[in-house]
Amino acid sequence: MDIKQIFKNNQEWVQEKLITDANYFKNLSEGQNPDILYIGCSDSRVTAEELMGVSPGEVFVHRNIANMIPNTDLSSMSVICYAVSHLKVNHIVVCGHYYCGGVKAAMQSQDLGILNPWLRNIRDVFRLHREELNGIRDEENRFKRLVELNVQEQCVNVIKTSEVQRAHRERGITVHGWVFDIHSGKLIDLKIDFSKILEHVMEIYRLE
Ligand SMILES: [Zn+2]
Repeated sequence: MDIKQIFKNNQEWVQEKLITDANYFKNLSEGQNPDILYIGCSDSRVTAEELMGVSPGEVFVHRNIANMIPNTDLSSMSVICYAVSHLKVNHIVVCGHYYCGGVKAAMQSQDLGILNPWLRNIRDVFRLHREELNGIRDEENRFKRLVELNVQEQCVNVIKTSEVQRAHRERGITVHGWVFDIHSGKLIDLKIDFSKILEHVMEIYRLE
């Protein structure tokens, strides 16, 4: 990848946008009103906007290694707070992907330095679902299932925040768990039962 090429690409992109709409960037500069917060993996193969077919301005995006929402992570907590309480999004998507390097690393016994505390959150997901995961003989299928369960647990972490609990009560915000299948390019809706999880976690995690 030639860095100079990126600036050439950018010029071409600007021209393309202006041909179809002369006010494109003027309109973009006037503010954003996205309806969706997307939380995905930093993996270079899993681009947020492209795989959803959405344009700039439509989705507020947060990406980190293995699409995690640790409750002490100031970055993801700030993103949720801003998207929910200020931008007033009505949907939060946690999108994982099969063959996620972060999830893979958490399945192995290896000291990865500063990555250890981050990946430990995924090991916790494994521990929570140890029985089911250890029951899967095929290693690839176990890996894929951990990706799905990690998405599910991160959705639970989203629901634990006071902003989301308040927005659910006030305007019925919904949390969705998806997986991107790199093999087929398809987005899979894990059909996580938001209401049931909410009911279940609120017994312990209700904040207001
Ligand atoms: Zn990943």
